[in-house]
Amino acid sequence: MKFFGMLLLFSALAVAQPQPSHPPLSQRVVHYQIDAKYDAKAKTLDAAEVLTYKNLTGQPLSSFPFHLYLNAFEPKATWIREAHRQAGQGGRAGLDEWDAKDYGAIDIKKFEVAGQGDLTSQLKFISPDDGNPDDKTVVEVQLPKPIAPGQSVEFHIQFHDKFPQVVARTGHYGDFILGGQWFPKVGVWWHGAWNCHQFHADTEFFADFGVFDVKLTLPKAEVVGATGMQTASAENSDGTKTVTFHAEDVHDFAWTADPYYKVFEDTFQGSGQPVHIRVLMQPANAAQGPREIAIVKNTMQRFDQWYGTYPYPQITVVDPAALQAGGMEYPMFITAGTTWWAPDSLLLPEGVTEHEFGHQYWYGIVATNEFEEAWLDEGINSYTEVKVLESLYGEYRSVVNGKHVTFGDREEQRFGYSQTATFDPMTRKAWQFAGDASYGGVTYGKTASVLLTLESLIGEDTMQHAVRTWFQRYKFTHPTGTDFLKTIEEVSGKDLSWYFNQAVTGTAVLDYEISDAAYWPSDWYEAKRDEKNATYHSEVTVHRKGNFIFPCEIEVRFDDGSMVREHWDGQDRWHRFTYDKKAKLVSAEVDPDHKVWLDVDFFNNSKLAERGDGRARRKLSNYWLTFSELLSQMLGWIS
Ligand SMILES: [Zn+2]
Repeated sequence: MKFFGMLLLFSALAVAQPQPSHPPLSQRVVHYQIDAKYDAKAKTLDAAEVLTYKNLTGQPLSSFPFHLYLNAFEPKATWIREAHRQAGQGGRAGLDEWDAKDYGAIDIKKFEVAGQGDLTSQLKFISPDDGNPDDKTVVEVQLPKPIAPGQSVEFHIQFHDKFPQVVARTGHYGDFILGGQWFPKVGVWWHGAWNCHQFHADTEFFADFGVFDVKLTLPKAEVVGATGMQTASAENSDGTKTVTFHAEDVHDFAWTADPYYKVFEDTFQGSGQPVHIRVLMQPANAAQGPREIAIVKNTMQRFDQWYGTYPYPQITVVDPAALQAGGMEYPMFITAGTTWWAPDSLLLPEGVTEHEFGHQYWYGIVATNEFEEAWLDEGINSYTEVKVLESLYGEYRSVVNGKHVTFGDREEQRFGYSQTATFDPMTRKAWQFAGDASYGGVTYGKTASVLLTLESLIGEDTMQHAVRTWFQRYKFTHPTGTDFLKTIEEVSGKDLSWYFNQAVTGTAVLDYEISDAAYWPSDWYEAKRDEKNATYHSEVTVHRKGNFIFPCEIEVRFDDGSMVREHWDGQDRWHRFTYDKKAKLVSAEVDPDHKVWLDVDFFNNSKLAERGDGRARRKLSNYWLTFSELLSQMLGWIS
């Protein structure tokens, strides 16, 4: 593998990389200024946050909900309850071993509103999703004076974080810390109401775009990475340093610190400004640094070419000390999932980093509602993951690319779905799925398979154009599933409601089989006289086993080498094709080009033909007749 990057030892010197100034890319609803001090021993943080919120809703606002995500890691929180259910279903494990020091929480010490005074005592926890009185992941404040349309309001919040031992998305492990979902974050005014859900074990995030100015004070020895660009770093007299970050047109801010990171850097040049790539590796995995750089650059090249320009000046890739912190996305910041032993033929590290980078486009920039429509982020991202990995490694070798063993990403996506096909539609709200397996199988695997199957209906190029249009038209907005489906119909010029109604909003299962494939002489007496030149009657029956109606192709082969392609609209439960020709049927296969990735069972798609006139059976029955006649004669003789 080519060595792309350059290993740099971390320097505590100030690095000033001002962002090129450009007009805002998003409606900047929020501006967060946070001054935070991290205690690396206690794994706690104290901060002062100033949030300036611009009321662009067109109406006066008198109440504001805030996410307090870290409270998900309190013992009786909804998140923990759901995570225990997942553990019982064979999912997330380890929580039963937690004791008091491992839990996490965020505590608001003071909550003031400029011009309206100290409202700390007015804060009220609400549980809009499940009514759990012990869930403190959403807090609401009523303002004495409403904020008029077009006006801004300034919240001054002092808070204290206790980070959990990392189990998912945020927390500490040894000297490593991933600071995700760590500050009070305002909800989104969306379609005429506040959208601010509790934190669930299977939900991710939704927030407004804006500007972040964050100061992190932490021990001097820490190597730090974060959303945005580092604009300053200054050492303090008490053995700490204060690192300053600035980010524009993002909707979240995450950071990480670990004194042992090895830093790899490179630059990607696509259709926009140069993008600085910063990879922070655990020392034990440092040999994999160039591999991370390579997959980031290759992925960025495909996204740039296929969907559009990456609009930020930097991307930070973090190799976390604990796998539980891996495979996570934040704006301009992703966590990977590598290990020192990953052989070159096992493309799992590439798969994770490609996937998390893809989120920059769907979660980060298009920014759909991950609580309510998770498929728009995870699913579209799983589809583009298949496309990118296949273009880099080949169709059936994008997960395992061995000499003797290969396995492709599209097979992995379809397999995940086929195990959980009947529980939930793609449009289910993320926390309402039957379980973790169904959430994963449907949100990721089914959506990817639905979009791969869609390629067979509208063409691969049209599909790429539709996804590009989705990105270009809706970047920095918060579009919905309806917007996505309409975009595909518009770009393809086709009414696809029949497909979307079954695939997206329904749970119908697609499964076609060849239930019968047989032949016998058209004229039995003729065949008896001259078997070689006889005409044979062949029949192929294709059966729609599932409720999902989908047009299909059937390939029929004969022993003279001839082949016929049939088309069936799939409307009835079954259909029979018949042939009379001077050749015997050899085999029949439904979906011979393997285009219908939603078919949950590929094993019943083909069948070898049998001689179907009962000749073999008659032969056997003749023996039986002879034998039974003999037997009865013998019995008659005895009696
Ligand atoms: Zn994902």
